[in-house]
Amino acid sequence: MKIVLASNNQGKIKEFKKLLPNDEVFAFSEILGKLEIEEDKDTFKGNAIKKAQTIYDELQKIGFGEVLVISDDSGISVPILNNAPGVYSARYAGLKASDKENNLKLIDELNKLGVDKTAAFYTACIAMVYKNEVYTVHGFMYGEVLNKELGENGFGYDPLFIPKGFSKTLGQLEFEVKQEFSHRNNALKLAKKVLDVIL
Ligand code: IMP
Repeated sequence: MKIVLASNNQGKIKEFKKLLPNDEVFAFSEILGKLEIEEDKDTFKGNAIKKAQTIYDELQKIGFGEVLVISDDSGISVPILNNAPGVYSARYAGLKASDKENNLKLIDELNKLGVDKTAAFYTACIAMVYKNEVYTVHGFMYGEVLNKELGENGFGYDPLFIPKGFSKTLGQLEFEVKQEFSHRNNALKLAKKVLDVIL
């Protein structure tokens, strides 16, 4: 089965390719080149569907044939900050903000509240489009965020996030450890159940 990922995020592409070792997995840009899809919905699910459906439609236009398109929209939510940054995680510090700038903004918001560690969770919504039908699932990873970056592994908010049951951040833990229980992997396990039925 040809699977096209509706993502440009190298961190996510790497995770998906590892999680789907038996399939032919492409990043959409390998086939369609540069294509900007505005993430303008106010839910993870809305953005995930928009990304997957847009790529699916573009692939149909060029006659790519039978394909499963998978997208994910994800982010980190901090309950003490009214679940910010949430769906705005990628642009918390501004439209083209870097991971570093977003992390500094989150640290700043925690410092304003005088908090050095607080509950947080990652959400991943995976949308799948196959034969023009849309399917979605959600996965979560719970833990805490710190007001300082520790470690350099992972991407995005990982240096700030300590998963439940650990004392180190995802920036300090090995990639393989995160893989086992990540929000994306949890969503992907559910997505695989959907694929078992529809493919
Ligand atoms: P998306 O590409 O719109 O889904 O944006 C997701 C954003 O949420 C990323 O830019 C990261 O800032 C954050 N994020 C999502 N998943 C992870 C993760 O596994 N680790 C760290 N940050 C993540």
